[in-house]
Amino acid sequence: MNLLSVREAQERILNALQPVGTENLPLRDCIGRVLAEDISATTDLPPFDNSSVDGFALRSADTALISPASPRDLRVVADIAAGSNPQVALRAGEAARIMTGARLPSGADAVIPVEDTDFNIRAAGTPAPSIVRIFKTLRPGENVRPQGADIHRGQIVLRAGQRLRPQDIGILAMLGIARLPIYRKPRLALLSSGDELLPVEAPLEKGKIRDANSYTLGALIASAGGEVISLGIAPDQRPAIQSLLEKAIEHKADMLITSAGVSVGAFDYLKEIVESNGTLTFWRVNMRPGKPLAFGSYRGIPYIGLPGNPVSAFVGFEVFVRPAIQRLGGEQTTERLRLRVRLAEEIQSDGRESYLRAEISPTSDGTLQARLSEHQGSGNLFSLVRANALLIIPAGVKSLPIGAEVDAWLL
Ligand code: AMP
Ligand code: MG
Repeated sequence: MNLLSVREAQERILNALQPVGTENLPLRDCIGRVLAEDISATTDLPPFDNSSVDGFALRSADTALISPASPRDLRVVADIAAGSNPQVALRAGEAARIMTGARLPSGADAVIPVEDTDFNIRAAGTPAPSIVRIFKTLRPGENVRPQGADIHRGQIVLRAGQRLRPQDIGILAMLGIARLPIYRKPRLALLSSGDELLPVEAPLEKGKIRDANSYTLGALIASAGGEVISLGIAPDQRPAIQSLLEKAIEHKADMLITSAGVSVGAFDYLKEIVESNGTLTFWRVNMRPGKPLAFGSYRGIPYIGLPGNPVSAFVGFEVFVRPAIQRLGGEQTTERLRLRVRLAEEIQSDGRESYLRAEISPTSDGTLQARLSEHQGSGNLFSLVRANALLIIPAGVKSLPIGAEVDAWLL
């Protein structure tokens, strides 16, 4: 069996997956969800010319040659509150008091802030003066937010495949878009396997350990926008494994994820069961930790078998399952953002693409430095608890000196 590069393994997984269906949701429920269609603006934003200050709307031509030493008085002919629809048309020598966000009256092309007039009063309920003295020359358009300056009607504001953030939800509200087509959350059935595993509530017994992966991987699935179908813990027995896997079918899982039980251990039945109910290939991926990776399908459901060691399972998730969830969930898969960090210690690697647990911190010269978490054994979940990043050491590199720059994923 030859070694697959991480990139090749990722591509093979993504090529086997199709986005799930969509649903139509009220705006409030769309936060963190993936948009299924491009959205174009239904109106201009702002929808009308409006004032960006509390002040007096006027004709900028009336303010030519004004200075603090030679001010000019304008007649105040209207008082325009936010939300009102002014009917007045300003003529030469006229102004209208106007509030922030209020629609500009016709004839006006600029707004002077109250503080540049002799009427610097903002208190609620104060009537407008009949004359206002202006101490400053204004350019056309000054303190005006023109209609359509932010967005033009018809312009695409959000693209299919974007995961919606609070500001995206806000702009959709501004546009009056109350419901959206959204990819439904991909459902991932999750199984831990091994006779040594106990549920978290159980007292510890000799020879046993508690099942960490159901929790870590379950939390990772949720954080990636997936829905977890928890299949629990499979003992190393054929019928029990089979009946748990059937639950993935019942719950219409979009993908099946297992941890452990796919190595060459004598008690590893999982692989036989998947093989005889679908397809299964074992990849030796040129990466560390987590070289063995199983990929296939169980009764039509795409399947990824992660290693059992808690750190290997975590890294395998970040490298393979997170992008898979993005693909299933309709999300545009862009390369994950990487930071450039400087090594504060020498690093030895073994030539595989390595994902090393590290702590990144800022330095006084403005760069980021990275130190490895103490011991990198793939069973040592605590080293991952203390890490805030994974350093990515490229394939082919065997050692790096202090001060070398490497890429990192923030955790
Ligand atoms: P395996 O892939 O079955 O050979 O398991 C590799 C290592 O991971 C063994 O030390 C297992 O005990 C451990 N392991 C497997 N599953 C889990 C789990 N769900 N939680 C914590 N450790 C596990
Ligand atoms: Mg095992």
